[in-house]
Amino acid sequence: MNRLKDKTAIVTGGSRGIGEAIAHRLADEGARVAVCASRSLDRAQAVAEAIESRGGSALALQADVSSATDVGELFKTVLDRWGGLDILVNNAGIARDGLLMRLKPGDWDAVLDVNLKGAFLCMQAAVRPMMRARSGRIINISSVTGLMGNPGQAGYTAAKSGLIGLTKTAAKELASREITANVVAPGYIPTEMTEKLPEQLKEKILEQVPLGTPGKPEDIAAAVAFLASCDAAYITGQVLVVDGGMVM
Ligand code: NAD
Repeated sequence: MNRLKDKTAIVTGGSRGIGEAIAHRLADEGARVAVCASRSLDRAQAVAEAIESRGGSALALQADVSSATDVGELFKTVLDRWGGLDILVNNAGIARDGLLMRLKPGDWDAVLDVNLKGAFLCMQAAVRPMMRARSGRIINISSVTGLMGNPGQAGYTAAKSGLIGLTKTAAKELASREITANVVAPGYIPTEMTEKLPEQLKEKILEQVPLGTPGKPEDIAAAVAFLASCDAAYITGQVLVVDGGMVM
């Protein structure tokens, strides 16, 4: 499929896991992709090189999404290089778990800063060029835990629920400019983020998945590519849950 030919995309947290799969999928569908990493520029570079080796176009960039300065520079670089922005995927995320009673305020702040404020800063930076073009796609990666809550994840679930409210507000504010904003809410996807979970917990999570297997980063990437494409032109303010049936 070549649904994203000549489109320009930014994928935050594109250096590994779900973000890496999204960067590859958007590029495979024809988009130029800025692969953004907070620290590991080497890994972002490897993703960009892999895309280019298959004939795609990609750029590896370093930016901490919780820093307004970094986000400003990230968008300036992309806009200077490619002249516009069609697709923003807010995928960067961290988890710092702890029961509500014990969660450290610093961990709360860190999780909210990356998962929620980071998305807000990137959306704010994306809106101007998208409004000028009178088109744009914003896709925010939340989580099924943002819909259900999850013991031990007060900060993370607050951020992921917040992202849904933020997306719906953006969808309403930007619809008249033909900019859509949607959420993809993944279920359990084995990545570096989830590898530290105790085996017993992973088994318990899987018991709640009717389709019986964990998801793959590529499953999330396929949903993102759909929402970024012309096939989703009439979809905005929605949460697309990709979880093997876990929360239905
Ligand atoms: P991961 O830890 O493998 O990747 C996270 C990415 O975010 C990395 O590329 C990292 O560099 C980047 N990142 C972290 N802090 C950043 C910052 N300050 N600025 C810019 N980038 C930063 O995790 P993943 O599993 O690939 O998760 C991707 C997204 O999907 C996250 O938002 C996560 O919350 C969400 N999610 C994951 C699962 C899952 O089961 N893996 C489930 C639901 C939602």
